[in-house]
Amino acid sequence: MAKADIENGTTDPVHPEAFDSQDEYFMGFALAEAGLARQEDEVPIGAIVVIDNQIVGRGHNQPIGLNDPTAHAEIIALREAARNTGNYRLTGATLYVTIEPCAMCAGAMVNARVKRLVFGAFDSRAGAVESVFTICNSSSLNHQVEVTSGVSAEAGRELMQEFFRQRRKSSAGGSGPASLG
Ligand SMILES: [Zn+2]
Repeated sequence: MAKADIENGTTDPVHPEAFDSQDEYFMGFALAEAGLARQEDEVPIGAIVVIDNQIVGRGHNQPIGLNDPTAHAEIIALREAARNTGNYRLTGATLYVTIEPCAMCAGAMVNARVKRLVFGAFDSRAGAVESVFTICNSSSLNHQVEVTSGVSAEAGRELMQEFFRQRRKSSAGGSGPASLG
């Protein structure tokens, strides 16, 4: 995505005062990304990266479509944000994602020096922020990410549950539950 995209369309100036909270406002964009994943029959998780109230990266889960096991929403959004800002370090960035990140994505956020993570629902199977591992605030690593959880969690969880209900129905007792993110 070119720098011009920051100045039109994809990064509208925001009006957080119109919403209950700025976090809920931005989470709405992450949920919209999750909807795109849903349309592509991917596990519906969406993420955005915000710097100075501007959306500089967006992503939705696409590992199947891209034949890329690393194509999680957060990774795609981080890559786009780094391209758009011309910096591999995203100091000052907040990443919004609909579901608790996995170990890969939490690790990528630490590497990118993301300042803050806001996520929706917990992932008890693979969540690496609070549920299974606690990568974002590990004192063993050289960077800690501030974390806010539970933002618009119901909406993010509902997308996931609906997706897996449909999948179970269509595969008639097929494979077990996949990891969420
Ligand atoms: Zn992930």
